[in-house]
Parts: sequence; C-alpha cells; structure tokens
Amino acid sequence: MARRILVVDDIATNRLTLRVSLAAMGYEVLQAVSAREAVDLMALAQPDLVIVSDRLDDMNGADLCAQLKDGRDGDAAPVIVMTSGSGGVGRIAALRAGADELLSKPVDDLTLAARVRSLLRARETHLELIRRQSTATSLGLSEAPSEFRRRGLVALVSSNPSQTTLWQADLARHGRDRIVQLTPEAAIAQASDEDGADVYVLGNNIQRPGGVLALVSDLRSVGASRYAAILTAHSPEDKINAAAALDLGANDILPLPHDPEELSLRVRSQMRRKQTADRLRQAIDDEVREAVRDPLTGLYNRRYGEVYLRRAFAQARSKQEPLTVLMVDIDHFKGINDTHGHASGDQVLRHVAEVLKDNLRGESVVARWGGEEFMAVLPGADASETRIAARRLCEAIAEEPFLSQRVALGISVTASIGAAIAGGAGSAANSPHSLVERADQALYRAKAAGRNTYALDVLSA
Ligand code: GH3
Ligand code: MG
Ligand code: MG
Repeated sequence: MARRILVVDDIATNRLTLRVSLAAMGYEVLQAVSAREAVDLMALAQPDLVIVSDRLDDMNGADLCAQLKDGRDGDAAPVIVMTSGSGGVGRIAALRAGADELLSKPVDDLTLAARVRSLLRARETHLELIRRQSTATSLGLSEAPSEFRRRGLVALVSSNPSQTTLWQADLARHGRDRIVQLTPEAAIAQASDEDGADVYVLGNNIQRPGGVLALVSDLRSVGASRYAAILTAHSPEDKINAAAALDLGANDILPLPHDPEELSLRVRSQMRRKQTADRLRQAIDDEVREAVRDPLTGLYNRRYGEVYLRRAFAQARSKQEPLTVLMVDIDHFKGINDTHGHASGDQVLRHVAEVLKDNLRGESVVARWGGEEFMAVLPGADASETRIAARRLCEAIAEEPFLSQRVALGISVTASIGAAIAGGAGSAANSPHSLVERADQALYRAKAAGRNTYALDVLSA
C-alpha cells in the first residue's frame, strides 16, 4: 500500500511542486491549504507523514507541528517543516515543537526523497515495536515500558578534534547525557567490543576508507551500535552524501555550519527515540524469555525442551552424531512434600535444577519436563559418556542432604535417571518422541531397581 503524505501549504504552486515530486516517488499525496484543514485531515486520513510550510495563513508551521505531536509522543506521524528564508528562530522553534526535519524551500528531489524514506522507515520500526509490545502487554506477559530515561552516551566522531571539541562544549551546556569524543577507528573498535554509544554524531572529516558513508554502514553492522541513532553533519553543498547517509541508515542530518541549539535539540530527540526503542526491545526480549522458561526453577520449560529436542535430533541425524535424552525424576518426592511441606518441596526442585545445570556440559540443555521430572539433551554423547553423565548426576544429587531454612536437619534427596541414545549402534529411536519414550521406560526400570540409580534404554546399552 502506498504511504500517504499530507502536504500543508497555503501557496498553490508550492503544494503542486511537492505533489508532483512525491507522486513520482510513489506516495499518495493529500493536500491542505490551512492548519485547520490539516488537523481535520489528520483525523480523517491518518497520513504516514506530514510536510508543513513554516508560514500558513491561520497558524505558523511550528505551532501546527506542536499541535499534531501533542500528547502522541512516539507514535505521531513524522513532520517535516519547510522553511523559507534564513530566519534561524523559525528553525529552532520548529525543532522545539517536535519537527522531525527542516527543509528549506525550494527543496530538491534527492534530499526530499532520502528524508521521507528515512522518516517513514523510522516510524515503521517504531510502530512494529509498539505492536509487539502491546501484544505482550495485552497478554499480561510483560509490563509496559516505563518512561524513566537513563543517562545516555553521545559519541562525537571526527578525525578533526577541533570539530568535536566545539560540539562537546555546545552539548554540555544543554544536556545531561555523557559525551565522548572519538576518532572513527576508536568508534568502530569500541562498538565491536560491545561498548557502544546511544547516539553518534559523525563529523564531515572522517579520514577512513569510504569516509562517512562507510562509517555509517560499519556502525550499523556491529553489535553495540546496531540500534544506535546516527547523525551525520553535512555542509549545504554536500547534499548527495547527506542523502546517501540517510539511505545507509543515518537517522538525522546536522546542517553545517551548525547552530548550537539545533545540535542539542537534534541529539536530544534522537536520544529519546533510541531509548524508547531500547525499552520496547527489552520488554519484547523479556517476554520471549518468559515464554520459554519455567518460573520456579529458571530452567527451560517443556515447550522449549520439545522444540529444542526436535531441532537437536534433526541436526544429530544430519551430522550422523549420537544424541542422548535423560529423564531425571526425583525419588519419593511426594514424601518430601508430605513431610516438609510444599514450600520445602519447591526449594528441593530449585536445588535439583541447579545441580543438573552445574553437572552437565555447556552444550547440554536441561528443561523442567513436569512436576518433579526433568529432561536433559546431551548432543554428541555415546553410551559410555551417557553412563558417566548419568552416574555423576545421581551422585551429585544424592551427595549431601539438601539444607533448607525450614528444615534444620536437611532433606536427603535422590533421583532416578533413564537414558536413551539416538544414532548409537543399534538404536531404534527414529524420532524425538520415541527417544523420550525409551528414556521414560528406562527411568521406570531404574525406579524398579531401587531408585537413586540410572538405566539405559536396552537398545542404547
Ligand atoms: P517416585 O520415586 O516413584 O518418583 O515417587 P514420587 O513421590 O516422586 O512420585 P509421584 O509422581 O507419586 O509424586 C510426585 C509429586 O510431585 C506429586 C506432586 O504433588 C509433586 N509436585 C509436582 N509439582 C510440584 C511442584 O511444583 N512443587 C512441589 N512442591 N511439588 C510438586
Ligand atoms: Mg518422582
Ligand atoms: Mg514423576
């Protein structure tokens, strides 16, 4: 579906020029001749982006921008204010009102296209995060992100330290964020070391192969700066690079020579967006983690265990490697509950979960399968390694009585283990399901043999 752009200008030729350009770029264009008409159309047509002239008959562009943004914070449509003449006050007023970009009339198509594309892309990312977040919140899975804003880190990057020193002085006057000056090489090195900034402002003197454009791409591709906000600084005659920087993933352009207040406002607005997006992303990560975790023990839950086992099974088969499933069941657990109470029983479950994690190798995965039953997947383990692992687990669980705050004398805990191996010589387990079934049958035999011991599936043995 074509994105919808609302153009607000009281001068017909301005509207026409913009309409022709935007239509040629594939956008659907709506027009309004006054602020009042614009406000009505916003509600009716919900455009994806608004372009506003700084002077309208019934209101100035900055005030209209403020009205369109009012109370909508992050999810308002982006607004570009078209400025005429050189009135610096108008630019600052528009930025203060929340304008996402300022372009001076007449605007060339290259700049317009790059700016519109970049703002629409940023909005889509934001809306997608909001959508996922509200699904999570409506399912009661995670809290709505808080509005608390932590102190951020701004990195000023240039091969010319006098530029970044000047910026730092300007930013320090207005903001409370931490500011560092970096060479381009240091910026990349630190971001590759998981030590990234929230906002990068890149100067127009980047002495590095590929210049500022390569630096934008590189920052976008290393871990710690992947989601950072990036501003690049360009003089008016450098508009081809400015447009290219936006297309490569820069979020905003700082016009040179810079205005100190404009620099602060742009950095602050990018900081706010970046931190909102971080919070949303974090909330979504938490939700995903919650969905695969057993809340009592912190182990993976059965849902995850099943999915993981299917994948590990297919992988082992394609690599022709063995794969072991262990079913671990606590002995006489009902008795522990009955004697010491359910809360102590829960503590025993947590304790056993810890012992299992601590005594299996890093590549093994342990899940809580049911009440007092756990499943472990051991990739690559053959019959003799499986025996060693099962014996070690039995011993570690039985080793010392589990001490609980409630039970002075400690609770002695043992477990029985059944093991089955896929891909081993003579193994009949031809599906993840049959592997689990065979491990279950082996577990039954270990229980029958007196508990606190392990048994291997006959075909694995
Ligand atoms: P066996 O040696 O044959 O495995 O005997 P058992 O008592 O361990 O086995 P059974 O299946 O009879 O009892 C399991 C008990 O685990 C029954 C149930 O109340 C208890 N249980 C299940 N989930 C939880 C839990 O989350 N917390 C606690 N405290 N107990 C649980
Ligand atoms: Mg049991
Ligand atoms: Mg059981």
